[in-house]
Amino acid sequence: MTQFIAVTAGLQRNQEHSYEEMHKALVYGFEISWLGLICQNRCGETMLCSFNSSTEIVECSHPLCLTVMGYWTDTSCGRWTQFLSYAKDNIIAIMIGLVEIIKGPNSNYDLINYKVGLTIGHYVLPSLWAGRFLLGITFFIVLLIYKWRKRHSSMYECIEIYLQQQNNLMPIRYSYKQIKKMARGFKDKLGEGGFGTVFKGNLRSGPFVAIKMLGKSKGHGQDFVSEVATIGRIHHLNVVKLLGFCIEGSKRALIYEYMPNGSLDKFIFAKEGSINLSYKQISDISIGIARGIAYLHHGCEMKILHFDIKPHNILLDENFIPKISDFGLAKLHSIDNSIVTMTGIRGTIGYMAPELVYKNIGGVSYKADVYSFGMLLMEMASKRKNLNSNAEHSSQMYFPFWIYDQLRNEEEIEMGDVTEEDMKIVRKMIMVALWCIQLKPNDRPSMSKVVEMLEGDIESIEMPPGPTMYPDETISRDETINSDQPMSSDLNSFSDSMENATNNTS
Ligand code: ATP
Ligand code: MG
Repeated sequence: MTQFIAVTAGLQRNQEHSYEEMHKALVYGFEISWLGLICQNRCGETMLCSFNSSTEIVECSHPLCLTVMGYWTDTSCGRWTQFLSYAKDNIIAIMIGLVEIIKGPNSNYDLINYKVGLTIGHYVLPSLWAGRFLLGITFFIVLLIYKWRKRHSSMYECIEIYLQQQNNLMPIRYSYKQIKKMARGFKDKLGEGGFGTVFKGNLRSGPFVAIKMLGKSKGHGQDFVSEVATIGRIHHLNVVKLLGFCIEGSKRALIYEYMPNGSLDKFIFAKEGSINLSYKQISDISIGIARGIAYLHHGCEMKILHFDIKPHNILLDENFIPKISDFGLAKLHSIDNSIVTMTGIRGTIGYMAPELVYKNIGGVSYKADVYSFGMLLMEMASKRKNLNSNAEHSSQMYFPFWIYDQLRNEEEIEMGDVTEEDMKIVRKMIMVALWCIQLKPNDRPSMSKVVEMLEGDIESIEMPPGPTMYPDETISRDETINSDQPMSSDLNSFSDSMENATNNTS
């Protein structure tokens, strides 16, 4: 208060004045203003206010208060600015304390903040430095580990790529932990089959893969590894590549190259919304499959019999190039389970060769695959299942009988809206298929011959003998086809015998 009086009476603050000067000043008179006090209270400063005569409010013009105007009232702004100036004083005092640590103690200071500064200097700062040091060391170690792992993993990637480029090397063996990482926790399921579940994943070196997790087995795994070694050496454009495998305890996995277009069944038994392949594409795919099987039979060191050729086991890459999958798995699977021997029945009803069921028509050989291919080829040409109990006419239930009759009588094949060119393709495919599905294995061509026929002209293919479903066929086929008598009992007995045979082996 005296400060305000002194200033407003024209006396200088912090200067010595005589009593006379003071007397004169008081006699002269002075103005008392409360603005400074209010300003101090509201703004934290005495000089940063103005009186707004229209609102009759003292307004604070402190830059901070102006900035935050609208958020704080003048009063709270004042408290805030006061706090800042208080903090400023304290920081200065702490700094002095810290300087004293370096310069040596100065007993003249007795401020509490000065003591705080000393404490910080003595205890807090060394602790902070120690903490920083520890943090630095930890960070350095983590960085070293990261760099080492990165180098190690890039080395691993190089090995992976190198091994995959070498056609005659074994597929890579992975640990189950690596498989889990590759499959990203088995979240992306591609499908499920008789032997296990297939998941999408990717290798460390980048490419996508399909990981087939086989059902648990108790075997020591030697057979699995040697089988994988055999399959791993097979490299053909139309055979899906086995890139790696895993065997750890009871866990078995096979890693194949990923086929973006999935399996053929989606395309030939077209569902709503699926891509409709042209007959030219279908024909090219069939030639690719035939080449792949021919390679398995005659092209590599040992004959590989598939025994399960069917649309689900034909995978398509991004360019619709077919790849045969699941070859040799019968052996892998059966040995692990000690149930089915190499010559035992394996296959899918509808594609399985009759000699696998009936012992009196010939031994089991690579011709079993020719039969299955014939059934598949027939379905590809007709874009329907060979055995269809929902067919409009009973004569159409078993497609090979029905189509053979049309071919033999040189009738126009009832195929719906198909061009002349396409019809030629269809006819050729059906003729070859009819050769492949001959009852006796000896009557069927080899797969190399099949490739030749599919690639050649239709004119050079002889009319095949009529198809037969099983050896002791009691009902005359002509009788069945030409009449509209239901064939269901006939077909059912065939299916039943197939099913019985399969059940007996499992
Ligand atoms: P089977 O057990 O008789 O072979 P399946 O072929 O239906 O029957 P899987 O071989 O286990 O069963 O395959 C299941 C599904 O997984 C396939 O239908 C296919 O859609 C998908 N699949 C399998 N392998 C691959 C692959 N390499 N790339 C992309 N998808 C694949
Ligand atoms: Mg399969």
